[in-house]
Amino acid sequence: MTLPTYEIYAIRYAKQDLRDEGHMFIGGQHGKMVQGLDFFTYALKGNGRNWIVDTGMTSGQAKRMGRDYDFLCRPSEALARIGIDAASEPDVILTHAHFDHVGTLGDYKTARFHIQDEEMIHVTGRDMTMKPFRLAYHPDDVKQLIDLVYADRMVFHDGDVEIAPGIEFVLVGGHARGQAVLRVHTKRGWVVLASDAVHVFDETDFERPFAIFYDLADMIEGYRSINQMAGHRDFLIPGHDARVTKAYPPAGPGMEGQILRLDLPPKW
Ligand SMILES: [Zn+2]
Repeated sequence: MTLPTYEIYAIRYAKQDLRDEGHMFIGGQHGKMVQGLDFFTYALKGNGRNWIVDTGMTSGQAKRMGRDYDFLCRPSEALARIGIDAASEPDVILTHAHFDHVGTLGDYKTARFHIQDEEMIHVTGRDMTMKPFRLAYHPDDVKQLIDLVYADRMVFHDGDVEIAPGIEFVLVGGHARGQAVLRVHTKRGWVVLASDAVHVFDETDFERPFAIFYDLADMIEGYRSINQMAGHRDFLIPGHDARVTKAYPPAGPGMEGQILRLDLPPKW
C-alpha cells in the first residue's frame, strides 16, 4: 500500500512585527527589538478527509495574557475560505496547550482533540504550582481541556504515534513538557511541522534557545533531532517564523500572507 500524501495549509492568524530580544532568546538583550513572531494554525487535507492542527487564539485571549499582537483573522474563518467547516471537523491535533495554540477550541464543536499525556499532566498538576511554567497557559483554556476529557472528546497519546497513515505525532518536550511535532507526508516528501519545538530558524540554525521553556536540555536536544528529522530547511516549518510567510505560496488568489501551502516548495 502506498502512503497517502497531504496538502498542508498554514493559516497565519496574527503577527507581532517586533519583539524584545530578551523575550525571544535566552541571553537576548532587553530593549533591543528584533523581528517578532507570526502565529499559525494548520490544516491537512488528504486521504479523503481533513485534520486541523492547533486552534490559535483571539485578541481578547492575547490581552488577558498581557500580550499585544496584531490579529489578522480567526482561524475557523480562514478555514472556511478553503472549504473547511470547523464546526463539523472530526479531529484537531494539539501540539501543546500554550494559550496561542488552544484559544478557540469551542469553534470545533464536534471534534475529538489529540494531545500528549505529558502535556495534560503538565498543565493539571504539580508543575503549575511553579509560576514560571504558567507564563504561557491560561486556566480557562486548561479547564476547557478538562471538560473535553469528561465529554469523551480527548484522545491521549504517549510518545511517538502514527495518528493516520502519513501523519506522525512525535513527542519532543523541551519548550513545553508535552510539546509534540508533526511529520506529514506530502508529494514533495515528509514535512515537519515543528510548532513551538522550533519557533524560528535561529533556534535550529544556531542552537539559540527560545526564552520560554520547560527543560532547556530537552529543548536543545529537540533542535538537533528536528534538524535530523527534516534533513533540510525546505522540510522544516518553524511554528512562528515570518520567513515561512514570505517563502511559501498562497493557497489561492487574495490569500498572500494569510493562507499558505506548505506542501509546495518554498522560495527563499
Ligand atoms: Zn508554546
